[in-house]
Amino acid sequence: AQPLLIVRNLKKHFAVRGQALEKTRKYVHAVDGVSFSVPKGKTLGIVGESGCGKSTTARLIARLMPADSGSMVFDGEGVDEFGGIRLKEFRRNLQMVFQDSFASLNPRLTIAETIAYGPCVHGMPKAAAMQQAHALLARVGLEPAQFASRYPHELSGGQRQRVNIARALAFDPRLVILDEAVAALDKSVQAQVLNLLQELKAERQLTYLFISHDLHVVHYISDYVMVMYLGQVVETGPVERIYGQAAHPYTRALLSAVPSMDPERRTQASPLAGDPPNPINPPGGCRFRDRCPHADPVCASHAPILLGLPGEPAHQAACHLNDPASGHPAALSEVQS
Ligand code: SF4
Ligand code: MG
Repeated sequence: AQPLLIVRNLKKHFAVRGQALEKTRKYVHAVDGVSFSVPKGKTLGIVGESGCGKSTTARLIARLMPADSGSMVFDGEGVDEFGGIRLKEFRRNLQMVFQDSFASLNPRLTIAETIAYGPCVHGMPKAAAMQQAHALLARVGLEPAQFASRYPHELSGGQRQRVNIARALAFDPRLVILDEAVAALDKSVQAQVLNLLQELKAERQLTYLFISHDLHVVHYISDYVMVMYLGQVVETGPVERIYGQAAHPYTRALLSAVPSMDPERRTQASPLAGDPPNPINPPGGCRFRDRCPHADPVCASHAPILLGLPGEPAHQAACHLNDPASGHPAALSEVQS
């Protein structure tokens, strides 16, 4: 499939408070050169520990904050060139659903009014917007006769998240970014909402960016997976490759920390020890080397770059073990095993 979204070399750093002089000011490189694409109608899952830059990446794409640098192409057109009406259209085409379903709903509006609100602001007549809101409520499994006039505090967490999904759909978007969208829900409710998302994706040819720390959920919903560590992409590829033949030691460690996802063949997996290093002063070379069981001096002197794996260019990893030319003593045998 054609890519709906292409992101190139996205960067964002934040100044650390308390550093008055520009010379001594320190920065957190929250997103440090992230590139990827999402094919139309597919789901890209983004995983990594908290603070790895997943949510910042999402906010930069949605233009909720400006990037320092980088470029985006949406459906074949450069987003950075969008201005005025076109930028508004891009914003409608891209909707987000966040984790905190309660805080994101206006407590003074009924849920039908909440869903109708955005389209009204964008010029849809109120009656049409309310009619659409009722239809969307029915579609997300909330019977309008029973739910339309309720207020957010009268709903369960799962129901509120269905309202947030309906509200996103009211703009008829092409891309929906789901940032920990099912994280606050009980397992059984989570499964229902995930199934709803899958149905809606097929019906409306939606493309999803699905951000989650839950590797089971990402396995279930994703077509492709991208693993981030300290603001960078360390591995990306088709979901079955990432879950079955992870090539980066960080990905293997993440997966092995989830017991039922540790098939016996993954013999090189090792439990993930320690915390990520301080993002204000990330180590030189490979940022994972302090926690990596395969770290070698070359990992300190040279930063690995994302490279396609032999015979599998869509599966990419940034680790010297996967690069026969890296000089890492275990590189070749690792590739062959
Ligand atoms: Fe480990 Fe070196 Fe690979 Fe980094 S480049 S993940 S330190 S083996
Ligand atoms: Mg987050």
